[in-house]
Amino acid sequence: MRHFSTVLNGSIISDGSILSVVNPATSEIFATYNQGRSEHVDLAVEAADEAFKTWKALPDTERVEKINALASLLESNMPELIQLVTQETGKPINGLNGVGSIMEVGASIAWTQYTGTLSLSNDLLEDSDAAHVEVVRQPLGVVASITPWNWPLMIAIWHVIPALRAGNTVVIKPSPLTPISTLRFVELANTILPPGVLNVVVGEGDVGQALTSHPKVSKIVFTGSTATGKHIMQSASSSLKRLTLELGGNDAGIVLPDADVDNIIEKLFTAAFHNNGQTCACLKRLYVHESIYDKVCQLLAERAKSVKVGNGLEEDIELGPLQNELQFNKVKQLVEQAVQDGARVLAGGQPIEGVGYFYQPTVLADVTNGMSIVDEEQFGPVLPIIKFSNVDQAIELANDSPYGLGASIWSSDVNQAQQIAQLIESGSVWINDHGAIQPNAPFGGLKQSGLGVEFGEYGLHEYVSLKTVKVCK
Ligand code: NDP
Repeated sequence: MRHFSTVLNGSIISDGSILSVVNPATSEIFATYNQGRSEHVDLAVEAADEAFKTWKALPDTERVEKINALASLLESNMPELIQLVTQETGKPINGLNGVGSIMEVGASIAWTQYTGTLSLSNDLLEDSDAAHVEVVRQPLGVVASITPWNWPLMIAIWHVIPALRAGNTVVIKPSPLTPISTLRFVELANTILPPGVLNVVVGEGDVGQALTSHPKVSKIVFTGSTATGKHIMQSASSSLKRLTLELGGNDAGIVLPDADVDNIIEKLFTAAFHNNGQTCACLKRLYVHESIYDKVCQLLAERAKSVKVGNGLEEDIELGPLQNELQFNKVKQLVEQAVQDGARVLAGGQPIEGVGYFYQPTVLADVTNGMSIVDEEQFGPVLPIIKFSNVDQAIELANDSPYGLGASIWSSDVNQAQQIAQLIESGSVWINDHGAIQPNAPFGGLKQSGLGVEFGEYGLHEYVSLKTVKVCK
């Protein structure tokens, strides 16, 4: 059994109780790590605070060199990282239409490389006889990153790399359910970065609380549930820390009557079911026009019945297990409730007997807003399909949610779809696709899906403060 170490201030820390991590496909322990405590948080933040003095003073080109070196190191360790991501998340190596751990590690490298190419220059506002006015971008200090269990390595990269690029130092706390790929990433990164620039502490409850309320933390970047995001916002208020919160979503898709149904089914299916629905920007409720409702329901149900579910280490598996017991029970309970409320099960609807948190890919018809399977983020392999009769009604139903992360419109009339996109209350709208994020486009949520954005220069700017420097002549 392999043991993974906590790295604080560039050194391996081996005190603290040893905890194990279970592969959710087999229920077997595959790795161990040292549990962190609040004392480790103090040590990590102190180390990051000290390292900030020299890291922020480096020329930007030197930080970019280190980030590029890190991308290369991740690339040369890809096979190991892919294996670890699959073991800790249950996510298949290849996955449904290529959405699996190879993609997670590949995207982690691509995002790292792309972040190195971004510009972080100052803005010259005025250079006149009267004054020279410049807006200077400066790093914030110690950034606390808190990550969830669904895309552990990729989300760690999304937090850590722009923070470092902008000249900040970082303490990351991964989910105790999936800490392993992050521990390995931090270990690798510490062979390139100066001590203290990137530190990791793994622990539950008190560790997250200690980190998010630490007076020397200047900014928190968090991906996870809306409920935890609200707690973190409270902790952050003690010293007015900056926040980027990427929280839950309950993304709607609207299929208009002119959509090319045969051609969009596979994309719709992947959007809803990849990673077993455990992605913040998965398609979680599908609104379909009444003229094509039966056909869309039937094709999606057929596809759900054909999916290969199993241990993600096997190459032809498309969907793995749910990542954890809590999530498994939540999905089971939401489907049971939906059936009691009158939902028609077109595919699946039950857990899969045996070892692991496996659940049948499930398609539900005859569901409506107001049912918990539609109103709540199910975060599982379940797609509720809702019938609508006119576009205004569909827009109203899609917007009838406290969430506003992503949404999609499916239509052969792109102009009409673009007009509808203006009326949708979400941070991203995709037309004839869903969840199609990219490293140069801002990604973030409206309403209770979050604060701020990630990716590209828009995201990089969340890790700097603006300072106006005016020379009066
Ligand atoms: P949480 O939001 O509770 O956990 C995410 C991370 O936050 C973990 O690292 C967790 O570690 C940490 N955390 C929890 N409480 C605090 C706190 N008070 N201060 C600092 N850190 C904290 O997600 P869950 O794992 O409980 O999942 C619950 C639901 O959240 C899911 O069913 C799903 O709907 C949604 N979710 C959304 C995600 C997204 O990508 N937007 C990702 C994952 C979940 P610990 O609990 O050990 O402290």
